[in-house]
Amino acid sequence: MTFGLVALALVVATALVTATVMNRRLRRLADASQQLVRDPKKRLPTASVGGPARDLSQWLNTLADEVASQREALQRERTLLGSVADGLTQGVIALDGERRIEMLNEAARKMIGAPGTMITESLLELVRVPELRLLVEDSRDATAEIQLPNGPRALIRVARTYGRPGCVLLLEDVTAMRRLETVRRDFVANVSHELRTPVAVIRANAETLLAGAKDDPVMAGKLIDGLHRNAERLARILADLLDLSRLDAGQYRLDITAVSVRSIAEQSLSAVDNKRGIAVEIDVPDGLGVRADAKALDQILVNLIDNGCKYGGTHVWVHATDLTDAVRIEIRDDGAGLAEKHRARVFERFYRADPSRSREAGGTGLGLSIVKHLVESMGGAVGVEPNSPRGSIFWLQLPKAQTQVAA
Ligand code: ADP
Repeated sequence: MTFGLVALALVVATALVTATVMNRRLRRLADASQQLVRDPKKRLPTASVGGPARDLSQWLNTLADEVASQREALQRERTLLGSVADGLTQGVIALDGERRIEMLNEAARKMIGAPGTMITESLLELVRVPELRLLVEDSRDATAEIQLPNGPRALIRVARTYGRPGCVLLLEDVTAMRRLETVRRDFVANVSHELRTPVAVIRANAETLLAGAKDDPVMAGKLIDGLHRNAERLARILADLLDLSRLDAGQYRLDITAVSVRSIAEQSLSAVDNKRGIAVEIDVPDGLGVRADAKALDQILVNLIDNGCKYGGTHVWVHATDLTDAVRIEIRDDGAGLAEKHRARVFERFYRADPSRSREAGGTGLGLSIVKHLVESMGGAVGVEPNSPRGSIFWLQLPKAQTQVAA
């Protein structure tokens, strides 16, 4: 009996000790697991003696390894997504169900003029444009072109995100595209307008000749002269248009070498049709050279000297000045000059300060736009200033040739 009681007490005592030890180990495991949740890089101490507690801590460590590697992969993906989004020229904005910003890439930030990442800010508070509100509040995927305040004109596509509330906005800057469309439309309208008159004259003269005027020598002579002048005009317009389209397409091959300003200026002068007998003076130092395409520089100077003779007074002067790294070439005249509003626009295609005088002189309205294109293609600059006491100074600056050139 006594032996039985002692044995029972021993069993109870052993069980108590085991339970206490187990409890303490589990407590330590629970504490360590708590730290593991806070920091998955931590590891649980593995008990030296075997048993379920040791197995548990090993499994928890394996689980922690898994979580840590998944976290790293997620972080890597997030960084990759961030850099891809920031590398896009299109703007990307992700909104949550409350239309607060969840993600905003660099392009979108610039387009809406946001000072920072603006995470959790309301997009519609930030960009107060009614069309944008309508677009974002629409429950379907939709697209609209919206002028952003102090920003570009943007084509905005809204895609609802599936599986959770919110949406993604894709913004494309279409300002340049729309401007180009307008320029192209205006250009086509201008070309048609320019071609209409000579074509109409050619048709009318040909019809009159066919209707019987060919048998009247005086009449026929006048009509044929009209045919010839207008065919010439058409040819000039087409030649200028061809030059412009080749320049636009980058197909105007420039062979940049050191060229003598003086010899090109003299060559250009001989090509000018100086009907009014204007006195043209060339004052260019010998040996002064520019880095340019000789043919292009000749075309530029022919245009400018020709304009000086057409629109000027009695004299045209061609000067060149050495500016150390560049050469400034000036074509001055003593004509009526150009008002400031015209000076700002004469290099535009088809812009004429005095349309009737230009047409009378056989102008196409394209000469100066070709000059500007050519000068800029050779790394130079061009402009116009008023001459004193009267007339205009058309100037261009080109990189200087570092070696002396033979005249
Ligand atoms: P155009 O074929 O009409 O001469 P340009 O492009 O060469 O075309 O010149 C554009 C316009 O600039 C001309 O129509 C003329 O009104 C003005 N212009 C050009 N050069 C001069 C000048 N030296 N003096 C006054 N006006 C000028």
